[in-house]
Amino acid sequence: MTANLTEDSSPASGSAIRVLKFGGTSMGGGERILESARLVLAAGGSPVVVVSAMSGVTNQLEALRIGQYAPIEELERRHLEAARTILGEGPGRDGLERAIRARLHTVREGLADREGLAGKDGLEAEQGLAVDPVSDEIRSAGEDLSVLLMTAALSRLGHRARVVDARSIVRTDDRVGGAVPDDDATVELSRHRLLPLVDEGVTPVIQGFVGASADGRTTTLGRGGSDFTAAIIGAALGAPEVTIWTDVDGIYSADPGQIPAARILPELGYEEAVELAYFGARVIHPAAAKHAVGRKVALRIRNSFHPERPGTLIRIDRRGTPGVAALAFKPRVGLLTVRSRPMFMAYGFLARVFEVLTRNRVPVDLVATSHTSTSLTVDRDAPLDRVLSELDAFAEVELQTGMATVSAIGAGLLRIPGVTGEVFRALDDLPVHLISQATDTSLSFVVDEERASEVIRRLHAALIESRPPNPSPYHDP
Ligand code: ASP
Ligand code: MG
Repeated sequence: MTANLTEDSSPASGSAIRVLKFGGTSMGGGERILESARLVLAAGGSPVVVVSAMSGVTNQLEALRIGQYAPIEELERRHLEAARTILGEGPGRDGLERAIRARLHTVREGLADREGLAGKDGLEAEQGLAVDPVSDEIRSAGEDLSVLLMTAALSRLGHRARVVDARSIVRTDDRVGGAVPDDDATVELSRHRLLPLVDEGVTPVIQGFVGASADGRTTTLGRGGSDFTAAIIGAALGAPEVTIWTDVDGIYSADPGQIPAARILPELGYEEAVELAYFGARVIHPAAAKHAVGRKVALRIRNSFHPERPGTLIRIDRRGTPGVAALAFKPRVGLLTVRSRPMFMAYGFLARVFEVLTRNRVPVDLVATSHTSTSLTVDRDAPLDRVLSELDAFAEVELQTGMATVSAIGAGLLRIPGVTGEVFRALDDLPVHLISQATDTSLSFVVDEERASEVIRRLHAALIESRPPNPSPYHDP
């Protein structure tokens, strides 16, 4: 008998786990799902798959109204059609169709329950009012249907795959529509449920976005949360890399709709990715980027419509020399300037200002402060009237709306020789209302919203177009 000398518990004879997440457009119909399944097979190693709902489905579920069942029939048609494309007349089609119908039946029942409740309270049902808010039982249906289709597609291609319900691995608190995962529990559950399957050579297929509270109720992680699921599972399983398959070539140096010369970034450091995600680039969910940062999992963004393209790799530290990687843009910003009233002591003043903002749940992005005043940026759509009247009790307050934030993002950007000079030259004749620099990864400007494109254009030309892409061509981590 051979002794087990190594105590090696690495899965599937040591082949690396690859977590692959497919977004809504990569799951957009039967053909797309088959194509995504082929990408799973091509990935090699031991794949673990996380899927979003088919594009548009979560929106449709959230828009469901009491008494209106036609959208559910439409959802059923779309998923049944995908099932037919995936399996043809092949084995398993009846079962798949039954499972699709059954899940949508529970959505109908969920709505009918609401109708019953509303009926007791009054006329809502007759008036087709919103199911307010739709429950996570309903909201999660899109991902529940997607795992069925992806598993069928993998089987059709001769690959062993099995649905693992995200509710059995992603443990969360019980906030409806925006639950927060319990990291330790999720790590343990993921390993416990997924590794044995992976060891057997079976690919687990898991709903993104969906989880469950400790008492077993369905929860969801907030819109766009499938990326977050993939990052959590990748970290839990110690995967070196998580691939986010989407419908763009990667992360751009600026919005290509606004700046035609914008280019794909081959690599981005974590800090840069987190700053970018918060300051406007919607390619990846900020919580996913943040979670990956904490757990040191690399994320690769790739285009499932062009899998031959390398995409953007987000890793702990970008290689190459410091440089401005990208410009981010946030519209609809309000600039709040506060000064303590003369009869109040300056001591404790800022704490009081932040107390008012926190109590009214108004997040602050940027702060700049001088001896006499403090300026902060807030979301213009936040409940600012209340904030203004509460601040007025102890501060002179001014609110300027019609602002936007433009941020230059790049690790070590202040160490780039001449960079500040270039910035100020580029913005020379444009009014800048606030400059803020809290880390050496971002430098932000508050400008008039109507001048923001001009600011971005000039900064992109001065800081990015004038330099070669960084780092030069793609290497593997
Ligand atoms: N289907 C969910 C949404 O549309 C989650 C996701 O796609 O990431 O928000
Ligand atoms: Mg998404």
